[in-house]
Amino acid sequence: MYPDEFDYRSPETVEAAIDLLADHPEAEILAGGHSLLPTMKSGLASPDLLVDIGSVEGLQGIDADGDVVSIGALTTYATVADHDAVRETVEVLAEAAHAVGDVQVRNRGTIGGNLAHADPASDLPAAALAADATMVVQGPDGERRVDADDFFFGMYATDVGEDELLTRVEFPARPDAAGAYAKKPSPSSGYAMVGVAVSLSVDAGLVEDAGVAANGVMDHGVRLDPVEEALVGTTPDADVVAEAAASAADDLDEMMMMDDLQASAEFRAQLLESYTERAIREAGDGTGVLAGSA
Ligand SMILES: Cc1cc2nc3c(=O)[nH]c(=O)nc-3n(C[C@H](O)[C@H](O)[C@H](O)COP(=O)(O)OP(=O)(O)OC[C@H]3O[C@@H](n4cnc5c(N)ncnc54)[C@H](O)[C@@H]3O)c2cc1C
Repeated sequence: MYPDEFDYRSPETVEAAIDLLADHPEAEILAGGHSLLPTMKSGLASPDLLVDIGSVEGLQGIDADGDVVSIGALTTYATVADHDAVRETVEVLAEAAHAVGDVQVRNRGTIGGNLAHADPASDLPAAALAADATMVVQGPDGERRVDADDFFFGMYATDVGEDELLTRVEFPARPDAAGAYAKKPSPSSGYAMVGVAVSLSVDAGLVEDAGVAANGVMDHGVRLDPVEEALVGTTPDADVVAEAAASAADDLDEMMMMDDLQASAEFRAQLLESYTERAIREAGDGTGVLAGSA
């Protein structure tokens, strides 16, 4: 299908992009276009204006010099997945970015587009939660910072206003943490039926900090608090890992679980447990903490 007619603008600054959004409440931001354009072609979205942020200064690239890894919203999955400092200090994000789509999607889709679009089956929200990311959002009143835990509201709904832009995402640099992302891809679309992100920081053989979150199970990415609590302070052997994974759905409202043609809510809950166990094992292998426990 062809999309409805629309105007097109390509601002060069964040401020100019925000002015356009403020003047056109029906406008959409065009980043990688890999979610927006299919939606327009299928008639599900008909913006009157596309604000192409591809030429906006300062939205590209990764700054990993200090204690924080700051990633511009326009940075592609491929850049994130292959970046040495990201792999070394925010491994869970690199793993999740690597799991997105195929090479073409990873070369074009952006971290900002993924997180702002907030498809329940996308791969990055859980990694952002597990790695304790901070979203930096800019609008007419300036910049504000939002914890990943407060950012995702629901299906395709986030704390980015109509006249705001997600400009960058900041991650605490954790060279001592190992990360993993275990994904059950949909056989038809490749999106996550279930995807579990785990980041484990280990000190003296004990799990000091655990970030565990899931995509695809609820209408937005969710932190799995009971799993985190079951892991912290342990040297997890196979029994501890299995028990922690078994608690993955404990805090989730069964009635609100995703339930569709791809997988029933009941099947998703089973997938959640086994992919949580798998992701903890992979992260644990990375820290060496699970050595000999399998
Ligand atoms: C064949 C295919 C397979 C895919 N497989 C996967 C997969 O396995 N896993 C996965 O996670 N995703 C997958 N995707 C989706 C892909 O990752 C998209 O790139 C992503 O969802 C959106 O990023 P984008 O840069 O393309 O954003 P766009 O499509 O340009 O924009 C999407 C939405 O986000 C808004 N937006 C974009 N950038 C910003 C910003 N900086 N601030 C505020 N709002 C913004 C736009 O207004 C728009 O509403 C797939 C897509 C395709 C076409």
